[in-house]
Amino acid sequence: MVSPAASPALPPLAAPSRSRAGKRLSIVAPCFNEQEVLDLFFDRIEDELSRLGVDYEIVCVNDGSRDHTLAVLLRRHQSDPRVKVINLARNFGKETALSAGLDAATGDMVVPIDVDLQDPPELIGSFVEAWENGADVAYGVRVDRKADSPLKRFTAQGFYRAFNRLSDVDLPYNAGDFRLMDRRVVEVLRQLPERNRFMKGLFAWVGFRQEAIPYARPERAAGTSSWRYWKLWNFALDGITSFSTAPIRVWSYVGLAAGVLAAAWAGMIILRTLLFGRDVPGYPSLMVVILLGFGLQMLAIGALGEYVARIYQEVKGRPLYVVMDRYGFGSNEDAGA
Ligand code: UDP
Ligand code: MG
Repeated sequence: MVSPAASPALPPLAAPSRSRAGKRLSIVAPCFNEQEVLDLFFDRIEDELSRLGVDYEIVCVNDGSRDHTLAVLLRRHQSDPRVKVINLARNFGKETALSAGLDAATGDMVVPIDVDLQDPPELIGSFVEAWENGADVAYGVRVDRKADSPLKRFTAQGFYRAFNRLSDVDLPYNAGDFRLMDRRVVEVLRQLPERNRFMKGLFAWVGFRQEAIPYARPERAAGTSSWRYWKLWNFALDGITSFSTAPIRVWSYVGLAAGVLAAAWAGMIILRTLLFGRDVPGYPSLMVVILLGFGLQMLAIGALGEYVARIYQEVKGRPLYVVMDRYGFGSNEDAGA
């Protein structure tokens, strides 16, 4: 017998090891105007999934596409019942479509993925291995962003930096939605009541054992990205406002600093008048101060507005999305098929 004192102080960190045997993997794929790329997507992902040797389902969320995306999805669903389709009543945006998919997924592991093949399905194998070794979340990190324009890379970098400074949550650099999550993590995400779903932030917020898996992000296989700079800007605002209150709290300090400066300056003017008599009125400096103060106030009101608008959205309490039809989900199947 070895006495306890003789053994090393701490055993190696033993993460629970799991097995994929008998487990189910859910793919969640939001689709918006993706008719060109869908068949390619299904071929690649089905190849990969059958190689993995797990039971799987592919939950596709048609996010109000205006092309034949739904028809392509339904054709797939008819030939393979593992392909399930949720048809949203209109375009709700990728974040919401993803939430709809996460709500419907039944797997022990859930993998959100873009259908444009920018998230290489071949990575899912590494995700599953990380999961078996104890990770609750295995997320893809882009090692190069060559596929993005320099401006997009630059603005993305700035966003991550601002976000991480302003909020308590650490957003990993260059991680997207592409990841594998354990069922426990998905359940936590599903319980978050907020309507403003900045998924990247929520994914980081939940915590658990997270592991980064690096990969090179390819270009879109076909079709066009629906993200424009204005949309990205609003996306960034959503992200920051839902994870930080710094942009509205900072105004108390800006106001305080301005007040102190104004008081000091007023003192100086009074002193100068007493000592040297009345000066010629300083119209230009007055204008500068007024305009600066006005500008700052407008900015502060704007920041306030961003939050108030979001509070309003949350308070209305509308459902996150509206499902028009569901195909492949058993008893409450819609008759539309
Ligand atoms: N998408 C969606 N709803 C939208 C916009 C996009 O469901 O309103 C889906 C789209 O079909 C794709 C994924 O979100 O599967 C990523 O979209 P995209 O490739 O346009 O974004 P990017 O890769 O440029 O960030
Ligand atoms: Mg894309």
